Amino acid sequence: MLTNLLGSDLETLVRFCEELGEKRFRATQLFRWIHQRGVRDFSQMSDLARSLRDKLAGVAQVQALPVVSTERSSDGTVKWLFDVGDGNLIESVFIPETDRGTLCVSSQAGCAVACRFCSTGHQGFSRNLSTAEIVAQLWYAEHTLRRELGRQERVITNVVMMGMGEPLQNYAQLLPALRIMLDDHAYGLSRRRVTVSTSGVVPMMARLAADLPVALAVSLHAPEDVLRDHLVPLNRKYRIADLLSACAAYQSVAPRDFITFEYCMLDGVNDQPEHAQALVRLMRQHSVALTAKFNLIPFNPFPASGLRRSPPERIQAFAAVLMEAGLVTTIRKTRGDDIDAACGQLAGDVKDRTDVQQRITVARGAMKRDLQDGRSLRV
Ligand code: SAH
Ligand code: SF4
Repeated sequence: MLTNLLGSDLETLVRFCEELGEKRFRATQLFRWIHQRGVRDFSQMSDLARSLRDKLAGVAQVQALPVVSTERSSDGTVKWLFDVGDGNLIESVFIPETDRGTLCVSSQAGCAVACRFCSTGHQGFSRNLSTAEIVAQLWYAEHTLRRELGRQERVITNVVMMGMGEPLQNYAQLLPALRIMLDDHAYGLSRRRVTVSTSGVVPMMARLAADLPVALAVSLHAPEDVLRDHLVPLNRKYRIADLLSACAAYQSVAPRDFITFEYCMLDGVNDQPEHAQALVRLMRQHSVALTAKFNLIPFNPFPASGLRRSPPERIQAFAAVLMEAGLVTTIRKTRGDDIDAACGQLAGDVKDRTDVQQRITVARGAMKRDLQDGRSLRV
């Protein structure tokens, strides 16, 4: 089987090249061709010796994900649906802003945490994505957007692991993917511009702090355990107090970094003034308050949830209580509403399954032809 080099961080690629009898700097060259220039075809990597290119073609490939659909919102948001095999579909979303471009990346097909308000959670868990499948989303989005916009320089300046899945329940595959995102020979994103969002997998937060303390977002959604048990079932295993201790420990590694607490605003469920006051008390009890940022996310509805979005004035009032207590608070602007690309709406779900099956077949066919012809990915 050919090794998919999209899943190799630089150290792994160095070992791979050494096994082929090649020097370390060859791995760096190869890494740059793949990630910085978006080239899949070894024969186009002109500064690699022909003998190495031939050797590589026999043992490795740069295997992208077949694209099932691309949807564009009127606000510039782009959502891609990728086929990861066995009927599993995953999504990535690009959100352009004036001063940055953020890619929302998936870590799993489905999710086992099963949060009440999340479309991915309702879908159930299918499987972990491989490192290559996580990186392939960034690789494809970056190089497609560059080509479309006619840009040489970087388009994606920030990555948020806020697509489908719980990234810290797929840690082994996530970590090398983060390394590739941060590597100067690949995407060169700074630690603060890559955010891992978690529903609170406490032991893995300590691992991430030790291995690669990127920006952390914690999906809190409730100020006390009974309500959080109901909204985020993982809370039955890792209680709020343990979660906030883990946040404080994370912060001690990168004391100047903010932790973002996400709070999905659900009408009549967690959006009352007493919830806001309880949240203020909770933050005061823990030493995280000083470098905590609250991000209130208006709930993005989907039919099976049976939940409603809090009205704007209630979200404002909630934010006011937090801000009066000195907590930095923002209300998330919903993007990509018209293409169901907002937080929690990703389900790899498509209305017409027959049409999707056809598109998957076409996407796979195009990929296969590209590989056979040795051409670069058509974008
Ligand atoms: N599993 C991780 C990351 C993916 S979810 C996590 O839960 O943090 C990314 C964010 O979207 C989380 O904060 C999540 O709580 C939020 N979210 C999920 N469903 C939502 C919905 N329907 N409306 C608004 N936000 C939602
Ligand atoms: Fe999973 Fe996050 Fe959705 Fe919860 S909110 S079900 S953890 S993806």
